[in-house]
Amino acid sequence: MQNKVAFVVGDGRRVKFWKDIWWGNLALCNSFPSLYAFASSKEAWVEEYWDTSGGEGAWSPRFSRPFNDWEVEEVERLLLTIRGARLSPLMEDRMMWKANSNGIFSVKSLYNDLFSRRAGLFPHGLIWNPSVPSKVSFFAWEASWGKVLTMDQLKKRGWAVANRCFLCCEEEESIDHILIHCSKARALWELLFALFGVCCVLPFSARETLIEWRGFMLGKKHRKVWKAAPLCLFWAVWIERNRIAFDNEEFSAHRLKNSFVCNLWVWTKTIVNEVVVWARFDTGFWTVSRLFCSKLSQVNICSSIADD
Ligand SMILES: [Zn+2]
Repeated sequence: MQNKVAFVVGDGRRVKFWKDIWWGNLALCNSFPSLYAFASSKEAWVEEYWDTSGGEGAWSPRFSRPFNDWEVEEVERLLLTIRGARLSPLMEDRMMWKANSNGIFSVKSLYNDLFSRRAGLFPHGLIWNPSVPSKVSFFAWEASWGKVLTMDQLKKRGWAVANRCFLCCEEEESIDHILIHCSKARALWELLFALFGVCCVLPFSARETLIEWRGFMLGKKHRKVWKAAPLCLFWAVWIERNRIAFDNEEFSAHRLKNSFVCNLWVWTKTIVNEVVVWARFDTGFWTVSRLFCSKLSQVNICSSIADD
């Protein structure tokens, strides 16, 4: 939020020289970190560095030690940057809300700003993944927007139903519970992380999980499988849940794991095959794909890919 607030400097008594945004789009401590490091006071007010002894007024920021030769240029750059700024002793400093064109804060502008940022973060690229079937993408999309008809949603719509998770039978069912927090889903996440040899902490919601998923740094080919993995996991959990809810089946950890690994294999096998071939020529082959392939070979691929 801090970068949404800027100051219009009047007398400079309530605006911090280094830390507030009052000239340009950045605080001076961010534009000139090497100078800020030895500023005499990091909390100085703007007026403290405005020197009127020469008549017209000029900027004279103070530092805790003399400059080294190589720092002079940076000091010149700072002075050049703020050269156009002037104090107006008769005016008070004003705070400006940058998200609104008139500079005045409103809850609506804050909401719009937050909303546009969240929308900007929405993991479109991850969800609309060409490797996975569109129904799986669509499910992930619905899950991200909280539109899946889990028990909590049915209750909200006025259905008189007891809310219990079909998978663990312990907690109430919500989309974030079954996909992220449920102990049965957790076991799958652990399997996934073990396949890729990574260690992750999952965020609170399905949506956040997909948003943050993009951030992991993996090799190019490996990344494609990695990107399909959470969608595949979501789908496996949802199918297992529906088997229990609508077909009166018992929960099966084996079936859930199989369905997850098999689907991931089927949807990304062209990528994995490429990797396997490539691996024969490269002894420095990455651990992750080796793990991935060896785990896959332990599963009877042909056994149960009947998720449709
Ligand atoms: Zn559960």
